[in-house]
Amino acid sequence: MDVTSFGIDHDLLQRGIYVSRKDEVGTGVLTTFDVRMKEPNREMVMDTSVMHTIEHLMATFFRNHPTWAEQTIYIGPMGCRTGMYVIFKGDLAPADVWEITKESFAYMASFTGEIPAAKAVMCGNYLDHNLEITKIECKKFLDEVMSQMTEANTVYPVQQG
Ligand SMILES: [Zn+2]
Repeated sequence: MDVTSFGIDHDLLQRGIYVSRKDEVGTGVLTTFDVRMKEPNREMVMDTSVMHTIEHLMATFFRNHPTWAEQTIYIGPMGCRTGMYVIFKGDLAPADVWEITKESFAYMASFTGEIPAAKAVMCGNYLDHNLEITKIECKKFLDEVMSQMTEANTVYPVQQG
């Protein structure tokens, strides 16, 4: 099985959607996507409150989606605060999830009202959210990356030598 995340060159990594890894589980495959919103080590990372709000909103979008809910395994923030990990059932490529991920960012960029599950009983740090900056970050990713994808935004650069 091709584990593409090994040896990726973070100095050259762009923003985009990449296959981080694939895992065989039972008779099926799970694909982990690297939804990279910031250029590693070259751009300011997102605030933890923003990562947290994206986690709540993106999970809400996928877990309530009529067709993707069944395929969605996990959505969580990267510790480096440059993006999100999204795990789906199936042996998938970035092209398979591009449209739906774009829809999730459009949903987040235009979200209004109460952040889902941002209550003490449902969240480990319910005050640590920032909807307004989340919307700005999601719109930025949508406008600057998702609406003009190239191969550099879907294929990992590999370390040379
Ligand atoms: Zn939470």
